Amino acid sequence: MATEVDLRISGGIVLPMVDDEEWFRGDLLVDGGRIVEVVRGSSTAPARRVLDAGEAVVLPGFVQCHVHVVQSLLRHQADGLELLPWLRDAVWPYEAALDGDGVEAAAELGIAELLCGGTTTALDFGTCRHHERVFAAAERLGIRLVSGKTHMDTGEGVPAALLEDTDRSLADAAALGDRWHGAAAGRLRYAVAPRFTLSCSEALLAGCVELARSRGWLLQSHANENVDEVAAIRAATGSSNLEYLHRVGLTGPDVVLAHGVHLEAQEVALLARSRTTICHCPGANLKLGSGIADVPGLQRAGVPVVLGADGAPCNNRLSIFHEMTLAATLHSLRHGPAAMPATRVLAMATRDGAAALHLGREIGTLEPGKAADVTVVDLRGWSLQPDGHPAARIVHGATAGDVRHVVVGGQPVVVDRQLETADSSDLRERIRSAWEATSARMRQAR
Ligand SMILES: [Zn+2]
Repeated sequence: MATEVDLRISGGIVLPMVDDEEWFRGDLLVDGGRIVEVVRGSSTAPARRVLDAGEAVVLPGFVQCHVHVVQSLLRHQADGLELLPWLRDAVWPYEAALDGDGVEAAAELGIAELLCGGTTTALDFGTCRHHERVFAAAERLGIRLVSGKTHMDTGEGVPAALLEDTDRSLADAAALGDRWHGAAAGRLRYAVAPRFTLSCSEALLAGCVELARSRGWLLQSHANENVDEVAAIRAATGSSNLEYLHRVGLTGPDVVLAHGVHLEAQEVALLARSRTTICHCPGANLKLGSGIADVPGLQRAGVPVVLGADGAPCNNRLSIFHEMTLAATLHSLRHGPAAMPATRVLAMATRDGAAALHLGREIGTLEPGKAADVTVVDLRGWSLQPDGHPAARIVHGATAGDVRHVVVGGQPVVVDRQLETADSSDLRERIRSAWEATSARMRQAR
């Protein structure tokens, strides 16, 4: 008699390595939070819980490498703006108005959306204050989150409530990271998050780099998203943004920079040489009219590129499916329709994301010994019929609404499309009242 396992995900089409051609009908056995076996055909192992994956694809959980869950309450409230006015007139006043309860409700909304849409891991950017509430929400809801409070100590249009003393800001991050990095059995991790060049002094950027490297934490920031941003940085620093960031130490294999839309040739070479990751956020780049990052060009040059939805006020959804469809189609305009095959895009959204977060040994593929982070995508929707390579069906045909089950570290967090780790009606109520309170404070501050 075979030993009983915690969980069997049964009867699906399994895509264990994502960008390989290999896929088969099989079962996944999970025990103690880890994948113990990927079985071809059906397993007879007894299991304490079985999730049905019939007429579904079983994939490694999706990894998004740039989100702001804390911005989620501002969804549909900041449309029709370019980056700098979007920050100064909408996002910063909103972040300045958030209290602890607002931060936690916003984080819960973002995390609920990510999990129900099949994203099991995210690299997340906080606001300046109350960041412990983001970790508390992530701990409860069950996502794997690499996250950090944002840093700003200068910059035009930054509200006083978000401008921090440089040393105080760094001390806050150190305390947060010391408390949360490795919490929830390693599911939560810290990543230092200076916002972008225009809102950080050189001392702050250098301090962030020093803090992260002294602790072994990742670094995340925004770079070269918008033409006005790039021009303002050149005017202020006398060099290109990437040359400047490289000088202060904010490049390297432990750095994820969101966007990389407007890059000079020397900047691309610098990214490749330093093995700095660019997180492609096509949904946000289109909505803010920022431009289209040259992803095939970056990849050809040897720059690691991963995917992220950015924030709810600039997308307006946090769906990896939306980003995958855009990443697979947008680059046809410049490079032809064969530029971004579905298997490549699917790998960016899983194993490449895991590697960028230094979690490649832990997640990103379905292999025995790895953490059981699994997404099961239903194939019964009309846009997924009647057949085709599973990667093409997922990237070109599926949406977040097709996600059936989601497992993180062996824990089923979404089952039959329902969030298991929170009461959805209570959560909706908390989100609604947090937005009412936050928007009232925004009106008062005007
Ligand atoms: Zn962002």
